[in-house]
Amino acid sequence: MADVALKDSRGEANSDLSKRPTHKADLGTDNFEREFTLGLLENEGETLGRVEASLERIEDGTYGDCEECGRKIPKARLNAIPYATTCVKCASALERG
Ligand SMILES: [Zn+2]
Repeated sequence: MADVALKDSRGEANSDLSKRPTHKADLGTDNFEREFTLGLLENEGETLGRVEASLERIEDGTYGDCEECGRKIPKARLNAIPYATTCVKCASALERG
């Protein structure tokens, strides 16, 4: 099951992005879908790649976890930046280098 899901997401990411909306609907996740759709419409391109990564994180069950410190990213931040992969603290630390 997990193996199939992984292949599925990788395949889609590399081939046909237009399949994503259908796939998202299948997930049936609360308001995440809406947030990601808004993100897609706002700024395609770079954002699209980040949204794709976020969708994979949802499938992996790691969405909302900071990649740097492993803590939960505050919901307010995710509302502002649905594809954020780090908490505010880590993000600013990364910006400073
Ligand atoms: Zn962090």
